[in-house]
Amino acid sequence: MADGAILLAGGSGSRMKGAVSDKVLVRLFGLPVILHSFRAFLRSGAVGEIVFVCRDDAQMSKIKSAIKRHFPKSSKKLSVFYVYGGKERGDSVINGLEALSDKQGLAFIHDGARPMLRAENILRLGEIARRDGAAVLASRVVDTVKRLSKASLSLSKCELEDLDRSRLWAMQTPQVFRAGAILKAYKAAKRAKLALTDDVAAASSAGIAVSIVENEFANPKITVPEDLAYIEFLKKGKK
Ligand code: C5P
Repeated sequence: MADGAILLAGGSGSRMKGAVSDKVLVRLFGLPVILHSFRAFLRSGAVGEIVFVCRDDAQMSKIKSAIKRHFPKSSKKLSVFYVYGGKERGDSVINGLEALSDKQGLAFIHDGARPMLRAENILRLGEIARRDGAAVLASRVVDTVKRLSKASLSLSKCELEDLDRSRLWAMQTPQVFRAGAILKAYKAAKRAKLALTDDVAAASSAGIAVSIVENEFANPKITVPEDLAYIEFLKKGKK
């Protein structure tokens, strides 16, 4: 059975405010951001194929040539495919899943904008997903998180609901499922017009239980320009 990874790069990066033209291609210690995740999957040996979900032709050809340059022998270890993304993240995930050759195998769905992924976490997620059917990398929430009540129309004098912090987990990626099962869940969610921000939400809407793998290490997603400097700082500490 072949397991595969989906590396998502199809977003517009609008929250980067034009600071860089493409956050997944920014160089981080000499390597484009998205290839840090590629390297982690390669090192882990956990997957036989990787699908890059790209936003356009220009990005696709930049990723292809960066792989040739930095990982010239990677094709001996795994197959690499390229597809286009869709309007929403979920559409991009569906395109990536369709490209995987074995729908019985595991699909590791990962945000290309999270370059701190470690091979050991990939292996742990694979173990748990094989045992339980689905697994997600996540961290405990250390902040006190409050929720605006539905009745609050503005931020002034609003009503804030308390949440039990001991039950809160911040979802990260990879999120790992049987490829066929999560594809079916995504298609059903799309037909029902559900708004989903991650793959666990698609799984939950189909009644698939997901096991949490706690990540003790930082695994931030590049969202705003300041995140790049923070990630450089974290990577330096790791070396
Ligand atoms: O927008 P956000 O930062 O949450 O996106 C998370 C990941 O999903 C990023 O790696 C982004 O490139 C990807 N994405 C995608 N297709 C979209 C939207 C986001 O592949 N339509």
